[in-house]
Amino acid sequence: MSAPPELKLLRSIKTGKGLQKLIKSLKLNLKESKVKEVKRKALTKKQREAVLAKTDGRCHMCGIEIDINNFHADHVKSHITGGVHEANNYLPSCSTCNNLRWHYSSEEIQIILKLGRWLKTRVTKEDELALTLANEFIKHEMTLRNRKKS
Ligand SMILES: [Zn+2]
Repeated sequence: MSAPPELKLLRSIKTGKGLQKLIKSLKLNLKESKVKEVKRKALTKKQREAVLAKTDGRCHMCGIEIDINNFHADHVKSHITGGVHEANNYLPSCSTCNNLRWHYSSEEIQIILKLGRWLKTRVTKEDELALTLANEFIKHEMTLRNRKKS
């Protein structure tokens, strides 16, 4: 019996440099799978209601309550990899999650979540390196917010 995909992934990474290589290779794969942009038609009100009903009015990623006037229709299969601009390929998301998800592949999303969860745990344990990274993260977020305001 072969090892589960997650274990194979960890074994292939081994070091921080390995993680860097993996992230870069996932980006290349995305470029290779890029398809020609198809003009997107806006969803009708009825289609938007159907998309929002799929999760009972909550963001499919973080679960926050959203409503018909403020949700993003998030592609399940990203349009950059050939996902269609149709209601059956959309799930409702809040703007924060949709903007963060961008068009990352499933593997990239899983790595990002694992890194984030790991760092969060280290921050709560007051690990010195994690606190340094957290300070840099907060500075970065503040810079982004200040840029948006001006
Ligand atoms: Zn969300």
